[in-house]
Amino acid sequence: MKYEGSIYRPPSEADSLILQVTIGCSHNKCTFCGSYKDKKFRVKSFQEIKEDVEEAKAYARYIKKVFIADGDALIIPQKRLVPIVQMIRDAFPKLERIGVYGNTKSILKKSLEDLKELKRLGVGIIYLGVESGDQVTLDRVCKGTTLDKTAEAAKKVKEAGILLSVTVLLGLGGVERGAIHAAETGKFLSRIDPDYAGALSVIIVPGTILADEVKKGTFKVPDPYQLLEELAIMISNTNVTHTYFASNHASNYLPVKAWLPEDKEKTLRAIKHVLDQRDPSLLRPEFMRAL
Ligand code: SF4
Repeated sequence: MKYEGSIYRPPSEADSLILQVTIGCSHNKCTFCGSYKDKKFRVKSFQEIKEDVEEAKAYARYIKKVFIADGDALIIPQKRLVPIVQMIRDAFPKLERIGVYGNTKSILKKSLEDLKELKRLGVGIIYLGVESGDQVTLDRVCKGTTLDKTAEAAKKVKEAGILLSVTVLLGLGGVERGAIHAAETGKFLSRIDPDYAGALSVIIVPGTILADEVKKGTFKVPDPYQLLEELAIMISNTNVTHTYFASNHASNYLPVKAWLPEDKEKTLRAIKHVLDQRDPSLLRPEFMRAL
């Protein structure tokens, strides 16, 4: 497989074949994100993708899940994307699901019929980086979208029958805006009602604009207990139908896995216990945190 640069995938795609069909992220402007800074965005040619698929068939013919990378492969125009997805489906006879990252813009560029067509071809889950339900925070980190547009994109994915998995980022509002960011994010999760929601914690990546802001003192990173307070505020502000909420990503200090709303009170009690104890041994050690 001819992977270019670092490859990222959601934790739930750990046992998937990763097939890189785009290089980088078409937005690539979020101030906290260093994932694709070294890559200039492009869509791989059909021939390049075909060569990777042919190679993968030799050792992963019976793979059940494929994740198509990089940043937002969904941005590929439908006419080019359909033959790629079709080729993946034909190559792996046991395939059960194709997953893909999609940002608000790339989802909204697809019609509902486009998304339904992708669903029929095997795209079963779209991962959308929501980051925050607070528009001020989103604007500060140059997310390049609005909450209304993201809600519209989320609705479209669900209407197409595709699973919606979103990520939000604890600490993204800094110390100053932490409580607002957390409360608004909880409310926004309720508004879009995703199938899965994953909370990550902000990690300052060298070379990013956010790292410069930290150096200048214009952004203060919340400490582990402030991040846990945000987690509690976020969860307490959710009013979802049936969402699997997890903060078990390696960036977090405390792993939480909960079905909401069923496990809401139990989860809040567990977070409160850790906040009351202030015992560092209950937290993931700093050296084990990663993105
Ligand atoms: S957070 Fe997502 S949309 Fe923003 S630059 Fe990184 S990959 Fe692109």
